[in-house]
Amino acid sequence: MSSQRETPGAAVKFDGVQKSYDGETLVVKDLNLDIRAGEFLTMLGPSGSGKTTCLMMLAGFEPPTHGEIFLDGQPIGQLPPHKRGIGMVFQNYALFPHMTVGENLAYPLKVRGLSKSDIKAKVERALAMVELSGFGGRRPAQLSGGQQQRIAVARALVFEPNLVLMDEPLGALDKQLREQMQYEIKHIHENLGVTVVYVTHDQTEALTMSDRVAVFNDGKIQQLSPPEELYEHPHNSFVAQFIGENNKLSGTISKMVNGHCEVTLDTGATVT
Ligand code: ADP
Repeated sequence: MSSQRETPGAAVKFDGVQKSYDGETLVVKDLNLDIRAGEFLTMLGPSGSGKTTCLMMLAGFEPPTHGEIFLDGQPIGQLPPHKRGIGMVFQNYALFPHMTVGENLAYPLKVRGLSKSDIKAKVERALAMVELSGFGGRRPAQLSGGQQQRIAVARALVFEPNLVLMDEPLGALDKQLREQMQYEIKHIHENLGVTVVYVTHDQTEALTMSDRVAVFNDGKIQQLSPPEELYEHPHNSFVAQFIGENNKLSGTISKMVNGHCEVTLDTGATVT
């Protein structure tokens, strides 16, 4: 998809952002984060650590209690929603059930007042991008879960946004589909150069797709770094434990070799 902008992705800045829903407890505590134009940044962390709240504030659905969020240098609250250029994908994909796939994809374009011929061309391109050309006439209920989720991704991208927010978008899919979609989302990101902010509690997803990962706990970023650095140089015991927890290998001791145990891993490999 083409864009009029030199860099299709938007830069995002969280500047001293705090959020409290009840006026007492801070669920996001003094967040400072610069997301580069075109970057794939993942917010990773346990449930309740404040990731979705950050996304909701970035989408403009929730105002920060303190601080400011900037989109390409402009305070997000001052930009009217249709000028923000933000696409969104959530876990339950929320396609309109009474509309066909094509109508679902056309909807964000109609809202923006595009001509019929432009809408047709963009819808066809978006379908091709997620490898579902020819599915435009079907209803969402006639598609598999994975196909529906691909349409949700296409709908978030069809109006050529500068920023795409994804909140656990693959949570409802089985392992094989999840892996396929991870690959497709990464591929689309690389082709379009759009900025992606991705929320997950699944570290495999975070580590395979992201340029950088922000590890959240208790409303704060514990570490912001490229994925490999999280393994090699965890900044504190929380990061080491969170990353390590899902990274354990299991197996059984098969024999002793020169005073060391030889362990056959569940994967079939042996280590001493
Ligand atoms: P995560 O995405 O990491 O699971 P959330 O941002 O959803 O974390 O939640 C952070 C905290 O804010 C949790 O304690 C949650 O219960 C609370 N919270 C989230 N949304 C609301 C809301 N709309 N009203 C009140 N509390 C909320």
